[in-house]
Amino acid sequence: MNILTFDIEEWYIEKAFRGGRASKYKQFDEAFNRVIDLLAEHGIRATFFCVGQLAVEFPDIVKRVVAEGHEVGCHSNVHTWVDKMDEKGFRNDTLNALKALEDVSGKKVNSYRAPAFSITPNNKWAVEVLAECGIENDASIFPTCRDFGGYKGFPQDTPCIIEHNGLSLKEYPVCLTTVLGKAVAFSGGGYFRILPYWKVSRTIKNRDYNIFYFHLADLITEKRTMMSKTEYEEYFMEPGTIKNRVMRYIKSNVGKGDAFVRLKMLLNESRFVCIQEADSMVCWDSVKTIIL
Ligand SMILES: [Zn+2]
Repeated sequence: MNILTFDIEEWYIEKAFRGGRASKYKQFDEAFNRVIDLLAEHGIRATFFCVGQLAVEFPDIVKRVVAEGHEVGCHSNVHTWVDKMDEKGFRNDTLNALKALEDVSGKKVNSYRAPAFSITPNNKWAVEVLAECGIENDASIFPTCRDFGGYKGFPQDTPCIIEHNGLSLKEYPVCLTTVLGKAVAFSGGGYFRILPYWKVSRTIKNRDYNIFYFHLADLITEKRTMMSKTEYEEYFMEPGTIKNRVMRYIKSNVGKGDAFVRLKMLLNESRFVCIQEADSMVCWDSVKTIIL
């Protein structure tokens, strides 16, 4: 089973942090349209994890996702990482996002992905909060080390039930491969852009479960500029040191250029489904329950 997901926040972030430049909106519109057309061409339904405020400020994007038959998932309300919030703040953020997305989409939203895979061993309460908010499927666990977020020590990279304080979610963790003896991701972000395509292609074929994740920014050729100290601190809510800013700059630009071509190759080679469809393909009675 191969799952295809997109995390969508670009228009909202541009408006909230960068002044809403028309040239940027145009880039996002073009990338979004290319993705939507490509999926239609292949008859593929994907999950689009959208930030709640996208539904408020740019409702046509969310409506288009629905009109094209895709699943709308929740990607937080304003793209604040879970590890920057306390339990109460996270609950409010999730409820606000769900209300906005459900109002605009007219559908129940029950799949979630945290910005930057920021559900970690330090905020296990997030599982409880999401379950209480009506989320059933989660795709926020990145089961290895990562510069931001990541759940180091998570025991598997295939679907499972995660449980905390008696409440549970169906989990679709990021899938991993091995490079030079180290477990690394291969199916999204910088990993997808930098690994040789043959490695990605071969890995998919050798596994029963794969989940791919893209931001529109991954599929835009133009490189991002380095953030100013103030911009970085406002956006990431952590010190905008030279090291942090350079790391982020490299991460967001590495391998940029042909990710959309690679995505096209991927869809030519393998069949993909959204999380809603995947849900009925997993035998949930026989997967492991992982108590966090
Ligand atoms: Zn995101």
